[in-house]
Amino acid sequence: MAKQYETVIGLEVHIELATKTKIFCGCSTEFGGAPNTHTCPVCTGMPGSLPVLNKQVVEYAMAIGLATNCKITQVCKFDRKNYFYPDNPQNYQISQLYLPIARDGYVEIESGSGKKKVRIHEMHMEEDAGKLVHDEWMILHLSIITEAVCHL
Ligand SMILES: [Zn+2]
Repeated sequence: MAKQYETVIGLEVHIELATKTKIFCGCSTEFGGAPNTHTCPVCTGMPGSLPVLNKQVVEYAMAIGLATNCKITQVCKFDRKNYFYPDNPQNYQISQLYLPIARDGYVEIESGSGKKKVRIHEMHMEEDAGKLVHDEWMILHLSIITEAVCHL
């Protein structure tokens, strides 16, 4: 019987870079701070604030691209992706959609039938969302609102 179909599985893999500051501002990336202590007008999307790209992010992204046999693109750009969720108060995420920093790479893995190449279509740089913290008061408050709505 002829092989009619080929299984192709795509994965989106995120890697957190070990930078001391965020990708587009000087805020700390350290974990464990009190809520809203590692924020500024840029990462909260305040009017008039402009992002400044962290050079170390580009250097790390290029190093990862080279380590995974990608072609480093000569021109790349960022795009804004609409993103309405409270872990990102800007209501958009700065990411790369059309012109990513690297593409067409691979990593080699060992398998039961020998070495295989896992292709990498492209590699993007993007900002990550914040961590949401739900305190007990907020959960209780949301519960009361939900109950009120349900009883109408
Ligand atoms: Zn910031």
